[in-house]
Amino acid sequence: MLSGLMMDYPLTLNTIIEHARRMSPRKTIKTKQPDGSWHEYSYADFHRRIKKLGNVLEALGVEPGDRVATFAWNNYQHLEFYFGIPCAGAVVHTLNIRLSHEQLKFIIDHAEDKVIFVEGSLLPLIEPIADQLNTAQRFVLFNMAEGQSCSLPNASHYEDLMAAASDDYEWRCNDENMAMGLCYTSGTTGMPKGVLYSHRSMMLHTLGVLQAAALGPTEADVALAVVPQFHAMAWGLPYACAWVGATIVMPGPHLQPAPLADMIEDERVTIAAGVPTIWNGLYHELRQKPRDISSITQLVVGGSAMPRGLIEAYERDFGVNVVHAWGMTEMSPIGSVAKLQARHADLDVQGRWDIKAKQGYFVPGVDARIVDDEGVDLPWDGETMGELQVRGYWVAGQYYKIENSQEHFTDDLWFRTGDVVTIDEDGFMTITDRTKDLVKSGGEWISSVDLENMLISHPDVLEAAVIAVPDERWGERPLAVLVPLDGEHDPQALNKYLLERFPKFWLPDAYVVVDEIPKTGVGKMDKKVLRQWHADGKL
Ligand code: ADP
Repeated sequence: MLSGLMMDYPLTLNTIIEHARRMSPRKTIKTKQPDGSWHEYSYADFHRRIKKLGNVLEALGVEPGDRVATFAWNNYQHLEFYFGIPCAGAVVHTLNIRLSHEQLKFIIDHAEDKVIFVEGSLLPLIEPIADQLNTAQRFVLFNMAEGQSCSLPNASHYEDLMAAASDDYEWRCNDENMAMGLCYTSGTTGMPKGVLYSHRSMMLHTLGVLQAAALGPTEADVALAVVPQFHAMAWGLPYACAWVGATIVMPGPHLQPAPLADMIEDERVTIAAGVPTIWNGLYHELRQKPRDISSITQLVVGGSAMPRGLIEAYERDFGVNVVHAWGMTEMSPIGSVAKLQARHADLDVQGRWDIKAKQGYFVPGVDARIVDDEGVDLPWDGETMGELQVRGYWVAGQYYKIENSQEHFTDDLWFRTGDVVTIDEDGFMTITDRTKDLVKSGGEWISSVDLENMLISHPDVLEAAVIAVPDERWGERPLAVLVPLDGEHDPQALNKYLLERFPKFWLPDAYVVVDEIPKTGVGKMDKKVLRQWHADGKL
């Protein structure tokens, strides 16, 4: 073999922060603080603080490879942890603030976190378990309210440590294969599992996100990450935006529709990313009290399926382009994006919305296939449903401290996503369900996702979840759980509406009204809970 003669330049995250310092020193990062005021500083300031953080971590006894956790909203401090911890050779472990005490304790112990950075307003969520943790020895507090006390042992204050630290620091991430981040899956389908990213995989993922075929932020963008930093690395936006010097806007704890609408209008946000629940809430807010959100070029949505009706409504009512993306914690997370392609230029609006409601094409860097129950490759004809399997530069090859098993990885080392999908001849993927959520009625599959999307597009429906319930005759039957928009719904009318698209056997056996659909820690409908409610006779 004749080897190429190019530099072996490591893919480590310090490259991003050094580039930002030189190329975008005056561009800014803005954070809406807990008290509602804005904090703003430049990438040059950001770089300086990350260097200080390196010294802070060293003083705390953090060694390369140690796991250092964060328990925080989206803000500039959390961005500092995103860079500072990995650039000090350690692993930033983003804890989901919405987990139960039990899950939180399990994850912290499993990860063996050594230090935990905790935001003041979230202290009450972690204080009760602090003395039960096996390894966490130190807590570092920030954004504490005036006079707020803390019962955590070994706690210090971030700003005190930073004030005492020098900004002279040499990066300690000297190998691209070093672990840099740890994120546990949100547990929609089982106990959380850890995904351990390397510098190399995260750098390649960042380049992946920067492709125009993916999200492609540029220096001119103003990016609002509504997706929490503890949800799959905020979908890679912080690293991608910092590399190109885009303005970053962080909402802090202000995630309700009204402050988000104000933020988008006031900051002239161009890219905003969040789960469908967030954009559903924002839509209804904007209908009630209009704001100018025309600055948005990409309203990025993923995490669960964005209903076609909402994609249509945003474009029709506000002229806003929705970019539907699919990903997984195990994929760092970007997998596919549904941007229109050249061949879609002549489609009418209905046809365009049909395309945008799909999960889209796999971005360069991600390889995919669909297989049947026996693992046999299935055709890409837009109709055949199979399990989606992926591999690529930023796909997990193993869960943290879990032996690989056939449940998650195939013998030829593809990752089993657990999503049931079709892929058409042009590579456009549509998720029909998660394997665990499909309704199997009389040997036929019913897609809970398709039913939900159709229901939510009905004017009487605010939220809808469809679950499989056991049935003696058919095995399973669909049950629809609804939140009606004005408290009213007419089952006959809904059935008639569903029959426009689906065969009769797809009709839910019943519609049950609830005040709110339970959500997981990252805002997805929690069908595990709904199934449990049903089993307990609560529905
Ligand atoms: P969890 O597995 O705990 O839900 P993740 O946030 O990693 O945590 O979820 C990944 C899953 O979310 C995917 O396997 C898929 O089922 C679902 N998902 C993500 N994006 C979309 C989307 N655009 N449409 C439908 N489902 C999606």
